[in-house]
Amino acid sequence: MKGGYPDIAHHSILFGPRYKGLLGDIYGGRVPEDFSLYLHHPSITDPAMAPPGHSTFYALAPVAHLGKTQPDWDGAFGARFADAILEEVERRVAPGLRANIVTRFHYTPADFGRDLAAHLGSAFSLEPLLWQSAYFRAHNRDHIISNLYFVGAGTHPGAGIPGVVGSAKATAQLMLDR
Ligand SMILES: Cc1cc2nc3c(=O)[nH]c(=O)nc-3n(C[C@H](O)[C@H](O)[C@H](O)COP(=O)(O)OP(=O)(O)OC[C@H]3O[C@@H](n4cnc5c(N)ncnc54)[C@H](O)[C@@H]3O)c2cc1C
Repeated sequence: MKGGYPDIAHHSILFGPRYKGLLGDIYGGRVPEDFSLYLHHPSITDPAMAPPGHSTFYALAPVAHLGKTQPDWDGAFGARFADAILEEVERRVAPGLRANIVTRFHYTPADFGRDLAAHLGSAFSLEPLLWQSAYFRAHNRDHIISNLYFVGAGTHPGAGIPGVVGSAKATAQLMLDR
């Protein structure tokens, strides 16, 4: 984006008007019309993340995976959803944002499925339900085939960089123990 946004922090969460209802939509497979957005503004911390006189941002809107709903992410629906997010960010924290955009793209569950082979386009692997969390997530060594190992967001202890690094350490230790 052209210009600087000194009042927008590196990490922000723009809460929408609903909480429980919004989660119900996401987990129930309805693409909501309101958002709770995570807004990332890395160039405020590291100006090298954008050319001089420019800023860089991304906004993350949680949505259901492709096993629950398959809107036309690659077509008009995906483009409309991206526009609605930009409109919300502009309205809430960045007046004039859309006029200042130099380059933009959006990345949907369809892209996660296609580019990263993510099952059902899920960006966070298995749903973090109680019975799929921590000890109940896939173990790092298979309980039948003892020399088959697993690592990453779908395995114990879980998704997110700290979880994935923890899972790599646990899996490596199991291998070393042998
Ligand atoms: C938008 C977004 C923001 C996030 N923000 C944060 C954050 O702020 N903090 C945090 O802790 N976590 C965050 N996460 C979660 C975190 O990024 C993931 O949990 C983590 O990257 C998962 O690591 P992984 O190694 O299991 O899988 P991935 O990083 O997905 O790596 C799997 C790799 O395997 C490749 N692959 C797939 N199939 C094959 C195949 N058949 N052959 C060869 N290669 C294959 C894929 O292309 C991919 O490169 C975020 C996730 C997203 C999507």
